[in-house]
Amino acid sequence: MGSPAFRIGHGYDIHRLEALYPRGRGRPMILGGIKLDHDMGPIAHSDGDALMHAITDALLGALGEPDIGQIFPDTDPRHEAQDSAVFLTEAVRRVRSAEYAIANVDATVVLERPKLSGYKDAIRRNLARVLEIEPSCVNVKGKTHEKVDAIGQGLAMEVHVVAMLVKRDAAPPQ
Ligand code: MG
Repeated sequence: MGSPAFRIGHGYDIHRLEALYPRGRGRPMILGGIKLDHDMGPIAHSDGDALMHAITDALLGALGEPDIGQIFPDTDPRHEAQDSAVFLTEAVRRVRSAEYAIANVDATVVLERPKLSGYKDAIRRNLARVLEIEPSCVNVKGKTHEKVDAIGQGLAMEVHVVAMLVKRDAAPPQ
């Protein structure tokens, strides 16, 4: 049994949002390593970057490795307010050491406010930098939850990601 030429991974994350500290317990809202201007932010042990968390899990999932919570437990004080690029960088390292390359990453961020459109390019470029792939291979889509449920009321944000890995010695597609 060799390793498959392609592996697909799915990642998901959700964080509750509260007013920024000290009015609430919200941390500054960071998505894909970019700070968003908002009066609310995620409740999180790390920096609460749900987009990086979901991409990390998509890559780990594609590899069939333990998930982000198993590798970086939120009970570990070293991860308090941790820059989530550390988690994502570790997932990228594992992709490489399994002799895969990241073909592309596609993410959907479900967030009522703020609007993602003004931040998308910066997020995409920063994710591409951390993933060490071209920005054209990273896609970030913003959706609202149409005011439905807690996400629609701005009380949480949710991220869905799929990522495709390709075996480094795989023949290029015809
Ligand atoms: Mg998370």
